[in-house]
Formats: sequence, C-alpha cells, structure tokens
Amino acid sequence: MARAAGRVVVVAALAVVCFFFLSPRPCAGAGDELVAGELLAPGKPLVSDGGAFALGFFSPSISTPDRQYLGIWYNSIPVNTVVWVANRETPITNGTSAPRLALDNDSSNLVLSDADGRAVWTTGMASGSPPAALAVLTNAGNLVLRSANGTALWQSFDHPADTFLPGMKVWLNHRTHEGGRLVSWSSPEDPSPGRFSYGMDPDTALQLLVWDGTRPHWRSPVWNGYTVQASYVSGTGTVVYTAIVDTEDEISNTFTVSPGAAPTRFVLTSSGQFQLLGWNGSASAWATVGSWPSSGCSRYGYCGPYGYCDVAAAACRCLDGFEPAWATGGDFSKGCRRKEPLPPCGHGSGFLAMAGVKVPDKFVLDGGNRSAEECAARCAGNCSCMAYAYAKLQSSSAKGDVRRCLLWAGDLVDTQMIGPLWASLADTLYLRVPLPPAGSAEKGRKTESQKKLVPGSANTSTEIGEGEHAEDLEFPSVRFVDIVAATGNFSKAFMIGRGGFGKVYKGTLESGREVAVKRLSKDSDQGTEEFKNEAILIAKLQHRNLVRLLGCCTEGAEKLLIYEYLPNKGLDAILFDSERKSVLDWPTRLEIIKGVARGLLYLHQDSRLTVIHRDLKASNVLLDAEMRPKIADFGMAKIFCDNQQNANTKRVVGTFGYIAPEYSTEGVFSVKSDVYSFGVLLLEIVSGVRISSPDDIMEFPSLIVYAWNLWREGKAGGLVDPSIAGSCSQEEALLCIHVGLLCVEGDPSRRPLMSAVVSILENGSGSSSSTLSLPKPNQPAYLALMEAKRDDLENTRNSITMTVLQGR
Ligand code: ATP
Repeated sequence: MARAAGRVVVVAALAVVCFFFLSPRPCAGAGDELVAGELLAPGKPLVSDGGAFALGFFSPSISTPDRQYLGIWYNSIPVNTVVWVANRETPITNGTSAPRLALDNDSSNLVLSDADGRAVWTTGMASGSPPAALAVLTNAGNLVLRSANGTALWQSFDHPADTFLPGMKVWLNHRTHEGGRLVSWSSPEDPSPGRFSYGMDPDTALQLLVWDGTRPHWRSPVWNGYTVQASYVSGTGTVVYTAIVDTEDEISNTFTVSPGAAPTRFVLTSSGQFQLLGWNGSASAWATVGSWPSSGCSRYGYCGPYGYCDVAAAACRCLDGFEPAWATGGDFSKGCRRKEPLPPCGHGSGFLAMAGVKVPDKFVLDGGNRSAEECAARCAGNCSCMAYAYAKLQSSSAKGDVRRCLLWAGDLVDTQMIGPLWASLADTLYLRVPLPPAGSAEKGRKTESQKKLVPGSANTSTEIGEGEHAEDLEFPSVRFVDIVAATGNFSKAFMIGRGGFGKVYKGTLESGREVAVKRLSKDSDQGTEEFKNEAILIAKLQHRNLVRLLGCCTEGAEKLLIYEYLPNKGLDAILFDSERKSVLDWPTRLEIIKGVARGLLYLHQDSRLTVIHRDLKASNVLLDAEMRPKIADFGMAKIFCDNQQNANTKRVVGTFGYIAPEYSTEGVFSVKSDVYSFGVLLLEIVSGVRISSPDDIMEFPSLIVYAWNLWREGKAGGLVDPSIAGSCSQEEALLCIHVGLLCVEGDPSRRPLMSAVVSILENGSGSSSSTLSLPKPNQPAYLALMEAKRDDLENTRNSITMTVLQGR
C-alpha cells in the first residue's frame, strides 16, 4: 500500500483549488492512509489504493463554498459523486482557514476540527478504546480505523450517509431492534440529514422500508427466503447481486457486483427515491437502473385499504372480492370495500388466493414454525383474521429453514401486483371472502366446486373453502371432470402435440381461459402426493420466459398438468419449416435467443431452486402470440419420476445433438451441460438448420463443425439463415455465433455461465467492439467422439427430460 502523505500544511488558497465543485479531479499524489501524527487538510485527499475513491474536503454547493465537509467520493469518474459525509450536521463554515482531520492524542478516534481547533466531528469511540494505528481508505470506498494488528475498530460502512455501496450492509439487530439506515440529504446541495431514511423494518425484520420522517413512504416485498437475486445493469455489463443474510444476531441486506463492474451504487435521494445507479462510461453519466417507488401507485399505501397497485399498469385496483369504496370509479383515495359482507363469524367464509403479490403491510408473524395447513387453520379459526400468507424460507440463515406464517387482522394496506423485476419475491395472499350463497349451482358439492381457476389478472388464483388441504392452498388442483369437459374428453381434435411424457391437448376451462393439458403417460410409478409436491415446487418457478404451470390433476392413475397455452406452439415447428421460417425475422430471432437465455439463467441461478433443464431444444421453446419465447418442460423429470433405483424408469439422455459431451459419455451434468444445449439451439436459430438434420450441411458433418469452420475462415456471417438475410444485422449475428461457439466448447469450464451469456447478449449486441473482448472459441473437440457415440445414443434415445432441483 502507498504510504500516507506526510504532515500536510496547506494554505487556504490551495484548499479552494481542491474544492469539489471547482475541481472534479482530486489533488494527485496522496496515499491511502493517515497515521498517528499526520493531518489531512484540504487540497490533498487520501486516494484509495486502486484509485477508485478519495477522502477529503469538499463543498457541495457553489453558492455556499464556505460550507466544508469531510467526505468520500468517486475518484475515477468525471462526475462529482459524494458517497459518504462525516460531518453532515456540522459543516465547517469559517472558510478562510483550513479544517483538518487527525487521530486524537490517544489514537482512539479520528477527529475533524475547524481552524480554531474545535472538534466538529469524531468517530465517536469511547475513550479507553483500543488505539488505532492508522485510518485507511479502502478501494471499496470504506474509511477504516485499524489497530496495529489490523483489526477494524471503526468503519464508515457502519455509518452510512445516503449511499449504499457494494460490500456495505443495512442491518437490524434481532435483540435490540436497532440497525443501520441510509438517510437522505436535505437537498442535492445540502448533505445535512433529510426527511427520508431507508432500512430494515424494526417491527418485523422481514422487509425494507423508506420512511418519510416516521411514516412509511415505500416498502419492499416481504422477504420470502431468497438469498441472492441478480439484476443486470444494461449498457454496463454489470450484474448486481443483492442478498439477505439472516444470522442469530442480525438480518442484513447487502449487495455485490460482478468482477470488473463499472461503479454501481444505491442512493436514497433527497426526494425519497431509493435508486440503483450504474456508471455508463460511454455516456459518461450515471444510468438509473431501478427506482423505488417506481410509479405513483407504488408509493406506500397509495391505493388505500384493500386496494393494490398493479405495477405493470401503474394503476390502482381492488383486491379480489372488493370494489372502490367511492362510487366514482378510479378514486382510490378511500381504498376499497367488500362487494359482499362477510357472514357472521365462523359461517360461510373461505379464502381466495391471489398469486404474484407483494403482500400487505401490518402483518403479524405467527410464531411456531407452522406448516401451511396450520397457518391456514390459524387464520380460519380467528374471526378477525382477514388474510394469511405462508412461505418456507429456504434461507441462508444459521437457523436453517424456517416457515413463515403471516396473519392480517386489520385493513390490508400497501399490496402490489409485482412486476417482473421483483417476481421472485412475490407471495400468494389468501384473502377471507364470503362463500357463494347456499342454493347456488354448486350446492351439494361444496368443497370441490369452490375450487376453480379464476379468469383475468388473478389467473393463478384459486377459491378455497375452509379446511382445504395445504397443497391446494398453494396450487390449484383441477378436477378431472373439468379437464374432460375442457378437452372434449381428450378428443383427437383437441390434441396439439405428443412428446416423451405423453399427449398434449388444448383445453378451454369453464372460465374461458385457454390452457394446454399434458396427460402424462401411465407408466409413471410416482406416487400421487409426490407428484403433487413436485408440481407445486415447479409451479413456483415463475419467469416471463418460462411456460407457466397453472395447476395439476390426479385421479386414479391419471396425472395431468395444466399449463398456460402458447398459441404459436414449439419454435421447431416454425424455425425448420421452409414455408414459415421467414416469419421469424432477425430481430425476432435475437429476442428469442435473449429470452431463452434469460429463462435459463433464472432456472440456474435466480430462482429459489437450482434447476438444470437437461433437455433444452427447439421443441421445448414455445412461442406466445407475439413470438416471445418460453421454455417448457423444466422440472418434468421430477414430476414424472426421478427414481434413480428403478431400472425400469425411463432414463433420461436428453435429445441427440443437444447433449453435452461430458453428459453423454460420463453422465455428468451441470449448468454447463445446459449451456451446451443453449449453444446448439442458438446456432440453430441463427442458421435455421436442425442440429439433427440427417443431411450433411455443405459437406460438413454437423452444424457445429460447419459453424466453427466458417468462423475460423472469418466467414461466420455465412451461417445466417438466407431466408432472413434482409433483416439481419451482421454485427449482432456474429456476436451470437461467437457466443454459440463458446457455449459448445468441449471443456465445460471454458463455456460461459448463463449470467455471462445474458450480459454479453444484452449489452453486446449493437456494439462494434463487443466481440473483440470475448475469448476465441476452440475447435469443438467433442465432434469425433460424438460421431462414435451416435449409434449408442440413438439406441438409447429417450425423450424424457430430467431435472435436478436443489435447495440452495
Ligand atoms: P419431448 O417430450 O420429447 O421433450 P416435446 O417437447 O415436443 O418432446 P411436449 O412438451 O409433450 O413434447 O409437447 C408436445 C407439443 O405440444 C409441443 O411441441 C407443442 O407443439 C405442444 N405444446 C406443449 N405445451 C404447450 C403449451 N403450453 N401451449 C401450446 N402448445 C404446447
């Protein structure tokens, strides 16, 4: 590490030169340490080893240059950005002489003094604390007081201002309910503590809040057990990983960024927005990646009691079973009221499930680590309980897995229908509603008839009578008779496909909703409960690039899965059809590639389970009405049967051509074997040629060899499907082919992870230098081996997918 600057005596004039607003560049030549006996004065900031941050004096306002603060700012970017301020409440105002920072006499504190020697700020360690040997500014932007043996005695990361940097945390102590919060500046030019603060909710320790004074201003979804979430900062190549860490002592929220990332920070603005910002080097500006609250209606409680904010539509709506409290439609200031009053306690009420929501505030966490059934019973048995939500927290907690039962007794406020960015944090809320009156059509088969798929936005909802089985509360069981009705008794006219698992039918439910029904062939030996449990697990995987599993049905030997219906069906049916393939022009194909990559990344990394698909291929990518892709058949092996002991069970080998070499030869599968399949699919999409095409491609034995040879000769553009040549951007196609060839490398360790693939595709396409920084693909070493194995594989080929689900 660079040694600290020597004793610094700086005249006021020099101090002014180094003021922040006059000089965006720091004074050069300073070290990163301040040892006992040294002074830090204006004009010579400390610069972290690595040069990312500087610590020194600044004035945030050109109109009040005499107000000086000690702070930390980014040193390596040309836009002044202060991330921490020491004396935010006590600026040094006598601008004619220099303030100074030094360790005090017994070295237990850093002290900031004005020109008259008055202390205006200190690190606040009790006297008699162990002495510090030095203060150092780390390259993460953390000012640390260290003892001689290197122990951190105090650090600025524990005393945040308005900015949350990678490596910092916002925490709450379980015992004292005290925690660290961000506090906004009063205004963009005034670092004194403003109205807004951000931190863990001390009442529940299960959510994060932005407060306006003492009133909540915005609230995060309730923690439902995720450990790490990844988000992408477009245009920077940065991946932001946000984590909740729950230990015996505290629960904390922290984040890190991918290696080599551009500067990235969260900030709580003086107007109460919690923002994620990434540095965009080419625009030389901060880009806002996310902002919370994001829209008017996502402000805390904006839609009133029993209303909710539909984030996608940025509009208020009423919870199911409620209507606006005031007749003038759209006025949500008073929230919503029940359409039908609840019957007297204990008679005729049930619970309606609303999926995909940020559950309301003001819940009570019901202790006792209850099961889903117990949680439902707790609410059903208490007349003042208006709703409940249940989750199993697969946590990083030292406490192991914890079940979370939330109960609501009062008004339901601040509910949201969550958008895709937070989809993995969504919960299902079970709302108490009156049951249909006796004598209605359902009379006489009450419990069964009260379960049905509800049309419209709450399309994953179920209506459930009291006392239902736990699985039903989380996931709709559909009656066999209803499926028979929906599919014309599985008539041939309704059959839309047949795969390794069985036949697929198009069905129309009573509600009018179109679904695809997969009738699993009867040779599955999996038990009914096991089947249902797996289906529930898989239904929880929700992403816009995954086909949504809506429900299941078991009756006798019948096992059926109900999926959302995708009108354009399998990608293979269009991509490899010479008449139809031009429908998929280049921009559409690029979006399909990106969408599949995002869906796969979710399965691998971002969902609550780690899922390896093991049979990604063109027919397992379905297209919606707008040709947007959705991956199908993930989790099918679990649902069908994953019994390793049973020799008669159909074993999985994936589909010829898409199988990674290490999987086919040694049976080793990992996320990297899925990456291989993705690479093959990508090359198919670009070329419009099937990997399993029986004919040689331009005399090359396979699509991969053909692609690699073109690449080697600098003619990779020749791979592009001639039927879309007109709409194709060469640059984008070359980038895709490059990525595809990296994905099909023989050595799994050389294949990129899906996070890298997504990042390259999202940020790289369109940039001319994008392929330059990627590694060169190697010759596909596997090809010879693959040829030899081809016969074996074809003999054992079985189209069943297997998927491994692992709790994190
Ligand atoms: P395999 O089982 O070998 O992977 P596959 O993927 O073609 O083959 P299935 O998943 O059973 O088999 O699907 C068969 C066909 O049914 C698909 O190719 C598609 O055309 C149609 N299909 C499946 N699911 C849906 C859906 N949700 N919406 C519309 N069509 C679907």
